[in-house]
Amino acid sequence: MGTPEQSSPPALLAASLVLLDGATATALHQRGQVGFRTPEILNLVAPEAVLDLQREYVRAGAQAILTNTFGANRFRLAAIGRADQLREICRLAARIARTAAGQSAAVLGDIGPIRFYANELGVHSPSELRSAYSEVAESLLDAGVDALLLETLPSLDEACLAFGAIREVARDAPILVSCFFRRVDGHFRTADNAAAADVVRILRDRGAYAAGANCCLGVGEMTAILDDLSAVGWGSLIAKPNAGLPQQRDGRIFYPEGPEKFAQAVRDWVDKGARFIGGCCGTGPEHIRALRRVLEQIVRARQP
Ligand SMILES: [Zn+2]
Repeated sequence: MGTPEQSSPPALLAASLVLLDGATATALHQRGQVGFRTPEILNLVAPEAVLDLQREYVRAGAQAILTNTFGANRFRLAAIGRADQLREICRLAARIARTAAGQSAAVLGDIGPIRFYANELGVHSPSELRSAYSEVAESLLDAGVDALLLETLPSLDEACLAFGAIREVARDAPILVSCFFRRVDGHFRTADNAAAADVVRILRDRGAYAAGANCCLGVGEMTAILDDLSAVGWGSLIAKPNAGLPQQRDGRIFYPEGPEKFAQAVRDWVDKGARFIGGCCGTGPEHIRALRRVLEQIVRARQP
């Protein structure tokens, strides 16, 4: 994992194991921030809340911080009357993440799925969808991010469309791609029925810097997905599970899987090829701290 103070951000991304951060939206929500449905607006109206969370992730040992831009795209912003603020949101989000990261972490421009929001507005043209992906990627790169992370992509079709659109504008920035898989007959597939290992193999062959899974139901599901993905034989997999399936408790949403559960599983994920490891919905700085502890042991054990 290297000594953070001695590594520049791009070198941090090239390490043999890279600890990502945890959730943004659910963590901000747990901290009482309104605007859960469009947390990207917090970059504009409550930048300190975003910065505080990202600083906690860096203190917990995260080596890459995701910008708070998961839903920042022209369609989702249009639905709340803020389509003209996409570039400003990306610029502020990158600045906040860079401030939090300092010299200890890289900054990944975070891009979530867009087709759903386009369809909601009646837009179905692939070229408009490609253009929306390019727009976010360019806005984030102009804002100075070190790399781009496409995540929670529901289908192979959208993953390939998004990756192709972004690669055209990405200059030399690494592009990481993570999909959302469902379990079908014991194996993991996208919404368009592509097997998880095929998805990762295709993205690798097209030039993705890393590929894998996020936002699955929890630690056990991530281990099972990685069983499928290990068949690819590629040591650049992404593993970013939720803290379990969300439950209602006393009128609040609660994620049941704690830091220790993550710490107990991560050695196995690394053995199966996971290299970029973090947390999705329901995780927080304590999950990242627990992962860091084990990842440091793994790196230490590898040293001669
Ligand atoms: Zn998630």
